[in-house]
Amino acid sequence: MVVKLILLSLFGLSNHFCFAQDSSYYQTYINREKKYVQSLLNAKTEKDFYITLSQCKSNSLVWAYLPFFYPLDKKNITISSGFGYRIHPINRKFSFHKGIDILTPCGTKVLASGNGYILDTGYDPYLGNFIKIAHGFKWISIYGHLSQIDVFKSQKVSYGQVIGLSGTTGRSTGCHLHYGIYYNNAPVSSLRYNRLFIHSLQLGFYE
Ligand SMILES: [Zn+2]
Repeated sequence: MVVKLILLSLFGLSNHFCFAQDSSYYQTYINREKKYVQSLLNAKTEKDFYITLSQCKSNSLVWAYLPFFYPLDKKNITISSGFGYRIHPINRKFSFHKGIDILTPCGTKVLASGNGYILDTGYDPYLGNFIKIAHGFKWISIYGHLSQIDVFKSQKVSYGQVIGLSGTTGRSTGCHLHYGIYYNNAPVSSLRYNRLFIHSLQLGFYE
């Protein structure tokens, strides 16, 4: 029942999210999950983080929709550029980096970091070939500098599904994946997500 409601709400009504606002059961469910996500983001200590994460794990349905899985088919994590203000490697200007750069050879399989649907794909002078996934619950993930795009707009994807191959298209100095997460249209700090990646690997969320 819950699965049906979520799928209907995510994909059934239109290309954009139209949650079944009148379903009080569904709304209660979403609110509960939101609380987990919020407390995960707010976790100040490792202990808090683990406690919240274990609660999320027992609610794996919604958890699967959140973009918290590692986006590459490669288990070592080398972040070459973090989230936040930095000196841009090409134009040397002080600018805000809205994601993280993960070093990886060109041609590495890029994976959807959560269930959702393809919001957009295309070419951008900065991001190169890119894919945007809408996960619902106001979460969006972005994958840039790809050498190949294997999905099309409006396509449904599941976490861990191959969506393309890493590359160095657009404004890029070498093979890497630009990976960004947005919550409620605002880019979200990767610091917590680096930690989420690592924990999700350790806890076997991502196999
Ligand atoms: Zn980047």
